[in-house]
Amino acid sequence: HIATHDLAHRFADTDILFEHLNIVVHPGQTVAVCGPSGCGKSTLLSILAGWEQPYAGTVERDGVERIGWVFQNPYGVAERSALDHVVFPLLTKGMSRRDAEGQALDMMEVFDLRYAADRRFSELSGGEAQRLMLARAVCSKPDVLLVDEPTAQLDTRTARSVSHVLGRLAGQGMMVMIATHDPDTRDACQRVVDLSEYAPLATGSDRDDAERPHDEMSRPDGGAAG
Ligand code: ATP
Ligand code: MG
Repeated sequence: HIATHDLAHRFADTDILFEHLNIVVHPGQTVAVCGPSGCGKSTLLSILAGWEQPYAGTVERDGVERIGWVFQNPYGVAERSALDHVVFPLLTKGMSRRDAEGQALDMMEVFDLRYAADRRFSELSGGEAQRLMLARAVCSKPDVLLVDEPTAQLDTRTARSVSHVLGRLAGQGMMVMIATHDPDTRDACQRVVDLSEYAPLATGSDRDDAERPHDEMSRPDGGAAG
């Protein structure tokens, strides 16, 4: 699982973005991290991944060996094919080219991208590139998948399909955390963490966060995931 203990963050030149964040995420769970632009969603994912040190509090990663990450902006090698982007990390893990291509094409199928396998990265639309990044990340079979705005460049129908796939992945035991503004993506997740609830409030607030209990998520119980 991943657990945060009284996590708080600010950058040197920002106010406290969030504080007293206590969440526990178990394998098989999908979590949407929501809140307005600038509230710290991407930053929280970086802290969970261990790239950014929190200002206060700790992150516990129990049984998490591999972390997958899909950035807010897709990136790739312009002249390389879409397929190559998914195959390459599998080759570096020692897989044969034939197996790697088979697995990569299967995963591209899952993200409805097989038709674009031979297109160059530079030819892909924004949404195709985004789905390619998801296919690549999922192929590496991470214990936790951190996804930043996966549906920002997708039409509603494709966005729903991607949310659905991410939900299914969680059903296979992955932890999936998605920073998102998209209501459909949020609804497809089992749990929502609204970061704005953890922002320090102006005076006069009636918040009693000091006593906020651990935001323990219910264990997966066979209910529909996503
Ligand atoms: P969006 O929805 O627009 O993606 P977000 O919730 O993901 O926003 P973050 O990217 O986490 O927001 O940034 C939170 C705040 O911290 C922003 O005000 C941002 O400008 C600031 N910030 C992010 N990274 C740094 C940094 N390295 N140094 C200083 N400030 C930063
Ligand atoms: Mg962001």
